[in-house]
Amino acid sequence: MKQRLTVLGSTGSIGTSTLDVVVRHPERFEVFALSACTQVDLMLAQCAQFQPRYAVMASAPHARLLAEKIKVNGLETQVLQAQDALETIASHSEVDAVMAAIVGAAGLAPCLAAARAGKRLLLANKEALVVGGEVFLRAVREGGATLLPIDSEHSAIFQSLPEDPAMWAQRVDKIILTASGGPFRQRASGSLRDVTPSEACAHPNWVMGRKISIDSATMMNKALEVIEARYLFGLAPAQFDVVIHPQSTIHSMVQYRDMSVVAQLGTPDMRVPIAYGLAWPERVASGAAALDFHALSAMTFEAIDDHGHPERFPGLRLAWEVLAAPAGTTAVLNAANEVAVAEFLEQRIRFDQIHAVNLATLEAVQPSNPDSLEALLALDARARAAALRSAGRMAT
Ligand code: NDP
Repeated sequence: MKQRLTVLGSTGSIGTSTLDVVVRHPERFEVFALSACTQVDLMLAQCAQFQPRYAVMASAPHARLLAEKIKVNGLETQVLQAQDALETIASHSEVDAVMAAIVGAAGLAPCLAAARAGKRLLLANKEALVVGGEVFLRAVREGGATLLPIDSEHSAIFQSLPEDPAMWAQRVDKIILTASGGPFRQRASGSLRDVTPSEACAHPNWVMGRKISIDSATMMNKALEVIEARYLFGLAPAQFDVVIHPQSTIHSMVQYRDMSVVAQLGTPDMRVPIAYGLAWPERVASGAAALDFHALSAMTFEAIDDHGHPERFPGLRLAWEVLAAPAGTTAVLNAANEVAVAEFLEQRIRFDQIHAVNLATLEAVQPSNPDSLEALLALDARARAAALRSAGRMAT
């Protein structure tokens, strides 16, 4: 039986890599639905190639444009745009698996819909779990969904853990996430004031969407990953550690109680964790190159505050602070950061002000234990408004 797949965010970096893996295995996977926001021509090309039953464009004008082009090209894909269209294609009874690769909290509602419908949910959209927290996990449990991590670090951890989750707490001492250090690893924090969006997006090892690229430069990506790992693997926050590993060869590690460390290695190519999630528990070809151990000159490690600049990545420690704070605080941090990154990309605030907006928003917005999608979305909106006000005060 072929696995029928919905790809949310199919025009993005993870979405296109997913389709690249899918196309290698026509006997295993079939695309049922695709979603995007603004890239009409790429979506049209994907519809022509994969002939999905549905294509959702989150933006109404882009949906109208796509519908016209689909008609002109004689394709049979139906274009949907209703507010709940993403939830519809994520929870459709004919869908087996959902790749969640929308960027940001916009992916939360369809992720919850897929979880409640008991789908195999391949989670790249870390912000959805950071915002959804326990509400998300409850939906997975109650819906009987299978949640598989796609983030390379979380896939590495998942591959390094015992198969039975009941063993995790009793056997694991610590989970160590690796971080490349991003484009500013060797820069003093004081020198980052005036970096431009294109400098901040120039990641040394990975080609990714703009939002996660900025998050990698501030290390907020690692903070979001620590929060994501805490929810996925359920250990205490103090059991998560981060080490800088500039080559991105080791994708993360699990240290067991006996001090044995199990790591997962590979070339930095997202098709590896994507293929793992798609085929789990089996393995299929991903299209990635093999790791050439003869050519590997070094694998090095640094503490986060190496190079004598302890405040280089002030956003990272927020992960542990928000995990210790009342439920919903992780959602406040995520909303603040999404706004701050967007404001930086529009060049309305400076790079170093991203952290300032996050701090100001965490101070201004107190969550009141959100326990439903509606409460989470209301909290997200409140935090975004506060973050925008704060960014407005800082704008140059
Ligand atoms: P991209 O920016 O490359 O792609 C985002 C996708 O989401 C696009 O298809 C985009 O549509 C769509 N989209 C954007 N805004 C909305 C919205 N408001 N509503 C619906 N759809 C929207 O992001 P990435 O692929 O880099 O990242 C996707 C997710 O995966 C993120 O959560 C990221 O943290 C995570 N991730 C990414 C990795 C990577 O290597 N890229 C690695 C690990 C995790 P369009 O382009 O048509 O406007």
